Amino acid sequence: MTSTEPVVLNSANELAEFVQSAHALKKTVALVPTMGALHSGHRALVTAAQEVADVIIVSDFVNPTQFGPNEDFDRYPRTLDADVHLLAGAADAVFAPSVEDVYPGGVESGSIRQFSSGPVGETFEGAARPGHFDGMLTVVARLFDLAQPDVAIFGEKDAQQAFFVDKLIRDDYPHMRLLVVPTVRDEFGLALSSRNRYLSDEDREQALVLPRALSVAAETASREGGTPSAARQAAMSVFEAAPLVRLEYFDLVSPETFEPVADGFVGTATAIVAAKVGTTRLLDTRKIDFR
Ligand code: AMP
Repeated sequence: MTSTEPVVLNSANELAEFVQSAHALKKTVALVPTMGALHSGHRALVTAAQEVADVIIVSDFVNPTQFGPNEDFDRYPRTLDADVHLLAGAADAVFAPSVEDVYPGGVESGSIRQFSSGPVGETFEGAARPGHFDGMLTVVARLFDLAQPDVAIFGEKDAQQAFFVDKLIRDDYPHMRLLVVPTVRDEFGLALSSRNRYLSDEDREQALVLPRALSVAAETASREGGTPSAARQAAMSVFEAAPLVRLEYFDLVSPETFEPVADGFVGTATAIVAAKVGTTRLLDTRKIDFR
């Protein structure tokens, strides 16, 4: 593998030309949508993409429509040069469009297809961030329309997002395939995130409560009589012992419906957690078996 840096495509037109030439050569295209500020977790998505497609495009776009008015859109890190560097030898192109490229005439203009994530879009991340999943689906569909990929690569870390993208692809892009890649963690178990750069050393220590609660829930589930309520309770006690971590939610949901599983559930549930450490909001997830 060479360490050539990917070509940077700064507009929808440049992307269209790039994709056309790939298709003309009968190459399959993978799209890895990101908001930039890339780390090894994103790089793992690109490595997974290499297994399933000939040409890999990483989009690097901080989408305004998935941030609420009091969220960190302005503060979100933008590190395009470092991102391009990190993708050397791994991705073929980085699509770094302007807002106008993605939403010509504005997001509200009639030409942009709007999505509704429905009642499940108002739970968990959607409850904390009203409109987030509608905005996410709108931009993902725009990126699919612009990049015409054969495969889309997403991280399991954003479990509810992956749930909605799976549904979007099944409903509206049935010729496409979705690949969901396991979460990359640091040596202590903290899920890598672009927002981790805001954590102080003490915050980082506190943040380990999230993966710890997920482990405790998994251990509880694996024991004789380990029900979803017992697993939830065990995770809650981890948070109760960590008052500096402000838990937003912890739950066990069905991967099919994203609704909480009840006692008696048999199969693999998705444990999801969101909490604030200092001013930083963190997410984590883990698959948990109930037998
Ligand atoms: P974002 O960080 O929001 O730009 O995420 C872009 C993509 O990278 C999404 O599909 C995320 O789920 C995925 N992602 C983010 N962090 C990780 C991680 N630690 N491991 C694997 N994938 C990740």
